[in-house]
Amino acid sequence: MSPTGASRLRVRVRGVVQGVGFRPFVHQLATANGLTGWVRNDEQGVLFEVQGAAAEAMPRWMRERAPPLARVDAVEVEPVSPVEAEARFVIEASEKGGRAQVAIGPDAGVCQACIEEVCTPTARRFRYPFTTCTHCGPRHTITHSLPYDRPQTSMARFPLCAACAREYDDPSDRRFHAQPLACPACGPRLSQPLESIVATLREGGVVALKGVGGFQLVCDATNEAAVARLRSRKQRDGKPFAVMVSSLASARRLVTLTEVEDTLLTSWRRPIVLARRREALALAPSVAPGLAWLGVMLPTSPLHLLLFHEAAGRPAGVGWLEAPLDVAFVVTW
Ligand SMILES: [Zn+2]
Ligand SMILES: [Zn+2]
Repeated sequence: MSPTGASRLRVRVRGVVQGVGFRPFVHQLATANGLTGWVRNDEQGVLFEVQGAAAEAMPRWMRERAPPLARVDAVEVEPVSPVEAEARFVIEASEKGGRAQVAIGPDAGVCQACIEEVCTPTARRFRYPFTTCTHCGPRHTITHSLPYDRPQTSMARFPLCAACAREYDDPSDRRFHAQPLACPACGPRLSQPLESIVATLREGGVVALKGVGGFQLVCDATNEAAVARLRSRKQRDGKPFAVMVSSLASARRLVTLTEVEDTLLTSWRRPIVLARRREALALAPSVAPGLAWLGVMLPTSPLHLLLFHEAAGRPAGVGWLEAPLDVAFVVTW
């Protein structure tokens, strides 16, 4: 405690703390607890100063309450002199220079809130394939250099529209300081409309998607001719393909899932999960020839999800994800 009665701490947080909503998280905690000060990203991670009665609890909260995509490796605390006449807690512009020592977060699968948004006809981002928020979407893929801020990402050439800028600046919004934030008015667009992509897939075509993490080749997993064509183009003779389905309900028609596999499949990492085959939906024989196991995955990005949404006839809301859908895609890199 200082002679004025105000305690001020400088806190350094190391780990995966950029691009995961860490500054908004610190801002929200500080504001909710009546603290003043500032937070910023720099080459070593996140640095903040807090002042007020609850300041002492902040370092502990960094580990206990960290946002879902963060990984806190170290929290370093040092007392500093209190600042007079500081009225608020602010997020400062990042410092540049020095060598980057911070870990950037991995790309994360689309979150439930964003899934709901792209399936809601009245939402601004209805059917928008590049929807993201602080808790989901690309990180590593779009970052050219650190610190992780929009000008250092491939989103730099998409200036925010007024509506997106409001979300970016609103501490109560889940897109507060979300760097890859975009919408149909200001963000990237598909070169082909969703309906023609899905029509091509239905006709047995192979589609190249430039998605998170590079190009993917996609085809209808129930169409033998399409899968065989993809196999010959990729020069992949017998190696099994993994299959993407709309939801857990759809996955359960193809494979038997244990509780652990369930959790894995729906986690933000959206892995391919190898599970025991069931075949309630008839896949093309050449997807995984002669194997008792099948690699399944759920939509990783809104673009993938919207392929299923389009194939399902653009249902409103997310109720359609509770029922199995007779659509499965081979998705390969
Ligand atoms: Zn999201
Ligand atoms: Zn916008």
